[in-house]
Amino acid sequence: MAQLDNLAVVVHGINDLRLEKRPVPEPGPNGDRVAVEPGVPREIDEFCKIGRYNLSPTIFFCATPPDDGNLCRYYTHNANFCYKLPDNVSFEEGALVEPLSVGIHACGRAGVTLGSKVFICGAGPIGLVSLLVAKMMGASQVVISDLSTSRLEKAKELGADFTLQTSKVRPEEIAQKVEGLLGCMPEISIECTGVESCIQAGIYATRSGGTLVLVGLGPALVNVPIVNAAVREVDIRGIFRYCNTWPMAIAMLASKRLNVAPLVTHRFPLEQALEAFETTKKGLGVKVMLKCDENDQNP
Ligand code: NAD
Repeated sequence: MAQLDNLAVVVHGINDLRLEKRPVPEPGPNGDRVAVEPGVPREIDEFCKIGRYNLSPTIFFCATPPDDGNLCRYYTHNANFCYKLPDNVSFEEGALVEPLSVGIHACGRAGVTLGSKVFICGAGPIGLVSLLVAKMMGASQVVISDLSTSRLEKAKELGADFTLQTSKVRPEEIAQKVEGLLGCMPEISIECTGVESCIQAGIYATRSGGTLVLVGLGPALVNVPIVNAAVREVDIRGIFRYCNTWPMAIAMLASKRLNVAPLVTHRFPLEQALEAFETTKKGLGVKVMLKCDENDQNP
């Protein structure tokens, strides 16, 4: 092991990403081809007991300082949160189980079911996985909005029924346009930008008695038409990452009914990690994949 190089991307602070050589950790028993669920509860607390371990205040999250992530060649993780990949699921698909899980959790909390009409605000990676999952869970029609026409084109490619370019459109007008496209107001809206005007549009757009799920995380305080939501009994639900989603995500990928491959628009070897982050920062493409394994540089 001593001669192996464990190149790692480490966050030292805001705008301070560094490539470092770290020691190669020793794996525990039962290693395999796996996808890693990054959030691991540190204790069996009340949230863990009810299966909502993502809400545990002491959870270990591989990626969030002070815990380092796993952008490195070698990494050890709690075996209970490593999920074996079937032979027909690639490492790239395995890596995409994480964002896909956000979509699964969001659609689950939204109550998407057969025939649902859904409005998704934001066609970034998270809006797009929510689109894929909503369609898979039986949504009959999905409208997705964004400012970027290239992201909306990607949404079309992934199965969006309608796309809506919303620059300079007021939240109330967005709601009207969504209703016009669907022929009725959607019973579910999934907000995937965190932008104040989008949360407002999400409230206005959702049918009375329906559900708005807040996925996007923007400023801590936002102005929203809360009375409009209250008097129309629009439920507003948040999500925090995901829980219990890896097995179903992997099963869907293995079934080949769910295709996440088009989400990956750029690939970089680990050595070019800083360039990869710059690419994401510039808003280029959708998912930028870092290839950590020197022997696995192709999709
Ligand atoms: P992203 O920045 O790549 O995508 C956001 C999209 O929103 C972009 O395509 C952008 O063009 C679009 N957008 C911005 N302003 C808009 C507007 N006014 N109207 C319409 N579209 C607009 O981000 P992402 O990776 O897709 O993540 C989306 C959000 O979800 C982020 O806020 C992220 O922090 C959050 N998130 C939350 C959780 C959670 O657990 N709640 C998990 C993962 C990500």
